[in-house]
Amino acid sequence: MAKAFVIDVAACNGCYNCQIACKDEHVGNDWLPYAKAQPDIGQFWTRLDEVAEGTAPKVKIHWMPKMCNHCDHPACLTDDGSVYKREDGLVIIDPEKAAGRKDIAERCPYGAIYWNEELSLAQKCTGCAHLLDNGYEKPRCVESCPHDAISFGDEEDLTDLIEGAIVLKPETGCGPKVFYRNVPGKFIAGTVYDPVEEEIIEDAVCRLVNGGKLWIEKTDGYGDFWFKDLPVGIYDLVIEAPGFEPKVFNGLRAKGSLNLGDIPLSRKGEQDG
Ligand code: SF4
Ligand code: SF4
Ligand code: SF4
Repeated sequence: MAKAFVIDVAACNGCYNCQIACKDEHVGNDWLPYAKAQPDIGQFWTRLDEVAEGTAPKVKIHWMPKMCNHCDHPACLTDDGSVYKREDGLVIIDPEKAAGRKDIAERCPYGAIYWNEELSLAQKCTGCAHLLDNGYEKPRCVESCPHDAISFGDEEDLTDLIEGAIVLKPETGCGPKVFYRNVPGKFIAGTVYDPVEEEIIEDAVCRLVNGGKLWIEKTDGYGDFWFKDLPVGIYDLVIEAPGFEPKVFNGLRAKGSLNLGDIPLSRKGEQDG
């Protein structure tokens, strides 16, 4: 049995309640034998990363709450029991045995461990093991989320939510137990307009191709098109509208999201603008 977190990225609106709740639970409170108090500055056992895709004015933002992954094969584990894995899968830094062990703070490939200079102690998310031991079903960060964006429980009870979810840095081989659902893909967007009339062009047909796969969108009432949730890749785009020459973009690299900006179409018979 292993405890797991499943985070629905689409449901998270970046309210920071989870981060604040973790602070409220752990700052100034020793929860021995699992943790000494989290300092009020410098540590975020739940950290909220804001991810902005695209460039103004076409920007999409999502948030990624990040905590210790309570990995299956934790890189932070030690032979002497100063970092150990509980039967329920939670990974704990023993605050007594780990005292003075700064090397532990360097072990996590996810940056989930912090060094507390004052206590001379490596610290991180405990999975709120002290609450679970006392009959609570949810850690504070999970319980505090107003949008139910974080689920927590035994992994086998969360299989429906975990299906299709991703983990961060799978290449570490750590086997992280924090799963992310509905992580937005990349987008390619732009605004199509007629430079002669200085008007946007509505209903222009935009065809995007990558590896034999085709996506089709039409520009909306603002002349905008958005291709959303795209995998990372190299794309070709053709934009067509009646009375205008087609506009072709080859080899668009969607490593991150792309805002192609304002795209003028030339009238048929005129030179491409
Ligand atoms: S409390 Fe929920 S909605 Fe708010 S930032 Fe955390 S995960 Fe997102
Ligand atoms: S995320 Fe880092 S600190 Fe947490 S169990 Fe995995 S390796 Fe250890
Ligand atoms: S499980 Fe507890 S310790 Fe870990 S991030 Fe959530 S509130 Fe903080």
